[in-house]
Amino acid sequence: SKARLFDEKNDIKVTFKDVAGLEGAKEEIQEIVEFLKTPEKYTNIGGKIPKGALLVGPPGTGKTLLAKAVAGEAKVPFFSLSGSDFVEMFVGVGASRVRDLFKQAKEKSPAIIFIDEIDAVGRARGKNNFSGSNDERENTLNQLLTEMDGFGTNTNVIVLAATNRADVLDKALMRAGRFDRQIYVDLPDIRERKEIFEVHLKPLKKSEDLDTEFLAKQTPGFSGADIANVCNEAALVAARKDKKAVDKQDFLDAVDRIVGGLEKKNKIISPEE
Ligand code: ATP
Repeated sequence: SKARLFDEKNDIKVTFKDVAGLEGAKEEIQEIVEFLKTPEKYTNIGGKIPKGALLVGPPGTGKTLLAKAVAGEAKVPFFSLSGSDFVEMFVGVGASRVRDLFKQAKEKSPAIIFIDEIDAVGRARGKNNFSGSNDERENTLNQLLTEMDGFGTNTNVIVLAATNRADVLDKALMRAGRFDRQIYVDLPDIRERKEIFEVHLKPLKKSEDLDTEFLAKQTPGFSGADIANVCNEAALVAARKDKKAVDKQDFLDAVDRIVGGLEKKNKIISPEE
């Protein structure tokens, strides 16, 4: 099939309110919302609007959520794709998809392009060349750099990219005029976990004994995605027992399940490392 490899959403409802914690990252990325909303304010005085920013942090910490919130706050279309989609592509296809993506985004500008797992295409060139498909990955990366360099000063498309491996990225990506800003998105601390629980508890019917402070204490090392998962799992546990509300014990059961799942995943992954 000739399905497009990128996704386009024109009515993103996510805003900064949906992103709990991450105060520093939100503050930094707020500036990008301003660039999208009132570019003239910056260009009239001779400023150049940045073309890209890299969101760096562990899996499930809210990088995609934050990128969507930028589009939601600025009310601009959100074009997204994942670097891993390019890995098994035929020669020439990756580069032409990138060209197509940028063309569409420019037509709809102001707009956000979000590239998840950019390390899959953006790894340093000329390394790990045993897969055979490396040439195509390099073509794709080169096309991405070409597109970003080709933006005029008044294009007003901003490219956000996410990675948990900034250390393996080709330095050419970080050069001035490309992804020259890095925004760190870390695992939540106890106070942030409490806030993330508050967001994800909102849609649930809760029993009186629920205490987000307690839940935050029970979940060290959990990402935002893990917490969202715990909340949903707890609701399913409660429903299975025909309860009318989710209580503390349901959460403890859900936390146990998720911890068990994480341990299993680590066991499967670690022998390869
Ligand atoms: P990955 O690197 O695995 O792609 P990510 O950093 O992009 O992960 P998201 O996809 O944004 O993480 O997070 C997954 C889900 O976890 C979100 O849709 C949201 O439900 C929840 N979540 C993660 N972080 C937060 C947060 N800070 N506040 C509220 N919810 C969060």
